[in-house]
Order: sequence, then structure tokens, then C-alpha cells
Amino acid sequence: MNIVALPAFSDNYIWMLHDGRQAVVVDPGDAAPVKAGLESHRLQLTTILVTHHHPDHTGGVNALRDEFRVPVLGPQDSRIPSPVQAVADNDTFELLNRRWEVIHVPGHTRDHLAFVCHDETPLLFCGDTLFSAGCGRLFEGTPDQMWRSLSRLKALPPATRVYCAHEYTLSNLRFAAAVEPTNADIASYIQVCTRLRAQGQPTLPSTLGQEAKINPFLRCTEPPVMASARVHGAKDDRPAEVLGALRQWKNQFQ
Ligand SMILES: [Zn+2]
Repeated sequence: MNIVALPAFSDNYIWMLHDGRQAVVVDPGDAAPVKAGLESHRLQLTTILVTHHHPDHTGGVNALRDEFRVPVLGPQDSRIPSPVQAVADNDTFELLNRRWEVIHVPGHTRDHLAFVCHDETPLLFCGDTLFSAGCGRLFEGTPDQMWRSLSRLKALPPATRVYCAHEYTLSNLRFAAAVEPTNADIASYIQVCTRLRAQGQPTLPSTLGQEAKINPFLRCTEPPVMASARVHGAKDDRPAEVLGALRQWKNQFQ
């Protein structure tokens, strides 16, 4: 499977998967970079996948559907430009000769979906739920929901490649280092990602194995993370309580 990052807006990535002929795009917030990508790789768009309704993930859906007459698969959510073929938790479908699986991951929004493509190593398209070294803001969900959603993603194989929808990694890593100042994996990953960004390269995909070592929102059961969360408002060590305190701290973190 070939996977291309199409940058959009200031820090979005629209992921385009293709087999050399046919292409699938995930979360086309803007049609223009998708059209340019299809043209430059000489591809035919066959399907649009949408993780959630936010405009920076759906703004290009109508223009692409009108031009290419392709189906849109996404959550049952009236805020996504219709018609959408609704898919839900545990649904499976086939695209580009691969089996895909849907995971409902509420937290950032109530209807947020993640898509897993079963390539040689699994590919995870997680929208704004899981970021490298971070997680999405809780606009419509509770810390408890987000913890359960992240736990389901974390249970996928460690080699799973993580395709998030934003380039937030370096700022997330600065926060991760504040949560765990003695975590050597975070310190060394800051070096890696700083180099990539200096070369104009995406820091994505990450892997779930990497995220398990550096992402504070996946590490809510680690004693150093629990201790930091306590200092920042967590009343006890329940993972959702830890996650909620981290998320609030992160919202104000400079
Ligand atoms: Zn969003």
C-alpha cells in the first residue's frame, strides 16, 4: 500500500492511500490538495473516509463527491455533508483489496470513528482522537470515554502505524516532557522529530509501540504520570481521572 500525506491548512494531513491506480482519501478538509495529489500520481479516487464532522476534516467532501461520484463512508452524524454511508463500531469493509475495520472512539466528538486497514502491518487512521504524543480535545466526550477509546486503540498490535490528522507532535512532546521529565524515550524522540521537522518531513506515521512509550494520554496507569496528574488536579489515580487532569493541564500549557 502506498500512503501519501497531503498537507492542508496550517497543520492538517489528508491521508491518501493508493495501489498505483485507485485511491482512497481520509478526512479531506480541502478538495484542492486531494485533486492535485490524484493528478500528480495519476490516480482515480474511489472512496472518501471521514472520521468526524469537523470542517477541517470534511470541507472538501462535497466538491470531491460531486466531481468524482464516489461514496463517502463515515459516522452516522447529520453534521457531515450527506449522503454518507454510515458505518459503525466493528463494521468491516473492503477497499484497495484490504480488509478495513471500524472502531467507535468517542471523546473528541461523540461520533468519532477510527479506521484500521489490515495491510502487512495494520494502518490506523485515528483522526483527532490519538495524536503522536497527545490526544484530541474533549469537545463532546468525557475523560472516561476518551480513556476507553484510547485503550481500544492501544490494544492493537504495537507495530500498527498511526496516521493522525494533525502535525502536533513537537508541541505535544514538550507537554509530554513536562509530565514525565525523566522519560528518556520522550527526550530522544524530541531529537528525532525536531530533525524531521527541520527537513520539512512529517513526524507521522508513528507506531503504537512508540506511542506507548511517549504518549502521556496512553500512559495514565504509569506511576510518574499519575504523580504529575495529582499535582495538576487529579483527585485519585483512576486512569480517566488522570487523563482528565492531563487534558485540562494541556489546554493551558504553553
Ligand atoms: Zn476535530
